[in-house]
Amino acid sequence: MVARSRIQARLDDHVGQLVQCRRCPRMQSTPVSGGAVLSDVMLIGQAPGPREPVLERPFAHTAGKTLFRWFEEFCGLNESTVRSTIYFAAVCRCFPGKTPVGGDRVPAPDEIRNCSTWMNDEIKILRPQLIIPVGRLAIAQFIDCAKLEEVIGRKFRSGRAQHSFDLIPLPHPSGASPWHKVLPGKKLLERALNLIARHPAIRALQSERRLARRTQRSQRLE
Ligand code: SF4
Repeated sequence: MVARSRIQARLDDHVGQLVQCRRCPRMQSTPVSGGAVLSDVMLIGQAPGPREPVLERPFAHTAGKTLFRWFEEFCGLNESTVRSTIYFAAVCRCFPGKTPVGGDRVPAPDEIRNCSTWMNDEIKILRPQLIIPVGRLAIAQFIDCAKLEEVIGRKFRSGRAQHSFDLIPLPHPSGASPWHKVLPGKKLLERALNLIARHPAIRALQSERRLARRTQRSQRLE
């Protein structure tokens, strides 16, 4: 319990420093954080869009709706449970701005490098059992991702920041790419979500959730 509170204090301190980061002058927002959620599971997004800095949480708009629906359907965890039990990180924490033709700018290598220290520190602090990178850019921070077909639907053993963990990649849930809506992406996505649902770290979250529900129910009956 003492160790847990010490880790929580380190994580609180980390997030406090992260949200003040201004290392990348081309970024168009301040950092977006999902909060100091102590967890064995980390979800790694790519970079926030324009809405997330305003709403002050990652995956706050349409892509998030799809992502949280996946978790609800396959893992039985609703959005508020996912947000309160999984640590949300990203390749870059600030909105990169738009390209001249209108899409979100992909973060540049120097920005990815700048922001990688935050992710490394999070892995050192949390020592997660499971990391879920969402989207090609996030997946490529851990494994080769030339083709989504070769990595979605599979579990990898990976390592970073002197820590080993399971890695189960997901495609990006944004409506911009139809990859996850048509075969073979649709089937591979289902396989990936089933792998996530069966992972011991997710099962532990599901058990905690069931226990919390039972406790609430019995408190209501008292
Ligand atoms: S992208 Fe990352 S490193 Fe760059 S300013 Fe934002 S938080 Fe800092």
